[in-house]
Formats: sequence, structure tokens, C-alpha cells
Amino acid sequence: MELPNYLCPVLKDNHGRTINYLRLAVTDRCNLRCFYCMPEQGNNWLARTELLSWEEMLRLCRLTIGMGVNKIRITGGEPFVRKGIMPFLSELSQIKGLDNLTITTNGVVTAPLVPELKQMGIRSVNLSLDTLDRDRFLAITHRDEFDKVIETMHALISHRIEVKINAVVMDGKNTQDIPALVALTKELPVSVRFIEEMPFNGGGQHYQTLLWDHMQILQTIKNSHPKIAKIPDPQYSTSYNYKIPGHKGDVGIIAAYTRSFCGTCNRIRLTPQGVLKTCLYDNGGTNLKDILRSGANDEAVSSAIVAALATKAIDGHEAERTTYADGAHQSMAMIGG
Ligand code: SAM
Repeated sequence: MELPNYLCPVLKDNHGRTINYLRLAVTDRCNLRCFYCMPEQGNNWLARTELLSWEEMLRLCRLTIGMGVNKIRITGGEPFVRKGIMPFLSELSQIKGLDNLTITTNGVVTAPLVPELKQMGIRSVNLSLDTLDRDRFLAITHRDEFDKVIETMHALISHRIEVKINAVVMDGKNTQDIPALVALTKELPVSVRFIEEMPFNGGGQHYQTLLWDHMQILQTIKNSHPKIAKIPDPQYSTSYNYKIPGHKGDVGIIAAYTRSFCGTCNRIRLTPQGVLKTCLYDNGGTNLKDILRSGANDEAVSSAIVAALATKAIDGHEAERTTYADGAHQSMAMIGG
């Protein structure tokens, strides 16, 4: 069957980059209060009517898949705190053309759901874990949920779902954990990825200069694991990847603040309110929820997506310069990390 002409199987931005990856934040709510992501009292949570409904999300996913998206990451907020997430994932996983459905989770309520995720065909999950020390976990997240996260990690491994551990590196908070997190890769087949801390903490202070950038992180890893070696980075990878000889897993470093990977950007984001962001560092422009709720047909919605991509910043620095002149940054939970 011929596709309607507004469904262009290769979506491109104004810089000629192919866009095939959608990151969809399904909620702004979270059951942790990581200080680098939001204020301790939480964000001003959105009313349900302000969120995209599951049906609206499925429609936008179908439409973008028809336009060339073949990978979707579900994120938030914490995706598993929104009621209805499992039927949504099940339906999404069956859409033809979606080759790769992945999730980012903090693992607090995820462990019992792992068998079902496996059944849906989910092959890879990013699990956020910034420390292997229970007290530091509590200090960073303001919740005493360390054991549940570890339980989720083991459940994923035993179900042979690829695990990528996301660890944000924070000056004065968890840098002493770097060697222990790297050591996790010795016996476990996990990728531990260290992320430069970004300013998306919901309005709090950020560093004038980031001390723990990717070079400082790498040097610290080398101090405890001098034999670490560079391995090839997959296409579109945001991490620089390394392996320690003899270890089952590997290590990655994500220069999220330095932004050295933007040149190969292949992604768009949808916030929980349905705002289409063409860069993590932009303010967001097109509200697709408003367009859907105005009764727009698929052709009009897809035209809005194509139009937004015609103004995508070349990199996160340009996006930040043009949209965050006042230096204010949202919480990552409102954007979708
Ligand atoms: N609740 C889920 C979780 O914790 O994995 C998904 C949403 S969370 C916002 C997604 C990812 O963004 C997490 O790995 C988190 O560590 C990361 N993140 C949040 N704020 C960040 C910041 N200021 N700098 C770097 N990474 C951040």
C-alpha cells in the first residue's frame, strides 16, 4: 500500500541529519527527588488534562514511525508511576516499523514488571543509579529505595534485558563511587555510563565551570583501572565507550554538558505536555497536544513536526544561547531525561 505523501519515510532536519529516534516523556511525576533533577519538594505537578493521554501518545508514535522514527525511548518523570503504562507499552511494542522500544527508569517499582517487559520484546533498559552506597543514595534521591533499584538491576539481567546504568557525576556527592560503579562491570554484563551533570534541576544553582567533565571522569576511571581501553562507539552513540580487559560489561562517558556529540543528533523529544523539542537545550516550541486537540488531521500534525525540524539548532550550545538567555533551566522530569 502506498503511504500518504505527508508520511515521508526519512525525516530530516534543516542540517540534513536523519531523525529516527523519539524520546517520549509520559509523565512529569517521579517517586524519587534527585537533587540534580528537581527541588526536594518536587515540581508543580501537571494536572492530568495537561498531559498527553495514552491515546494521543499512541497516535503521535504511529505518526512519527510512519515518518521514519524506528526507535522510541519511554522516559519521564518516572514512567512506571503513571497508571496505564503497561497496556500502553504493550500496544506501542506492536506497532510495525518500531524496531527498538526502550525505557529509562529509576527502578523503584520496576522489578515485578520485568517479566512482562521481556514478553513485550523490550531488549534494553536504562537504569538510573548514581551510587552503590545506601546512605549516599538517600542523600542524592531523598528516598530510601536503594534495594529496590538493585533488585530491578538483577531482574533485568536475569531476563537477559540489556542494562545500561546511568550515573550522573556530581561534585562533592558521588565522585568517590566512580571506581565501585566501574567495578560493577567486572562480574555483571552491564554498561555503566557516567553522565556530566547538566543544569536541568528545576531552577537551582549550576556550576560556573563543570569540574567533573568527561575528561576528569575518564582520568578518575584510569586511576583505578589503568588498563581501560577505548572500544568503537555505535552509530548515533552519545557515549564514549570503553572496556576493561576481562570485564563482562563496559563503561561509557556521556558528555551531556560539554555536548560534543550533537553533530550526529538523530533525536526529537516530546515532553509530558506534548511539546515537541528538537534539542534538549531548547525551550520547546510546537505544542503537538494543542494541535491534536484542535482537531487537526494527521497531515497537519506531521506538517507541524516537519516545520519544527526545519528550525532545529545545529547543537545544544546554539539551542541554549538562543532560548535560555536568562539562564533558567527546567527540571529534567518536565522535559524527559
Ligand atoms: N525517572 C527515570 C529515571 O530516573 O531514570 C527517567 C527520567 S530521568 C529525568 C532520566 C535520566 O536523566 C536519569 O538517568 C537521570 O539521572 C538523568 N538526569 C536528570 N537530571 C539530570 C541532570 N541535571 N544532569 C544529568 N542527567 C540528569
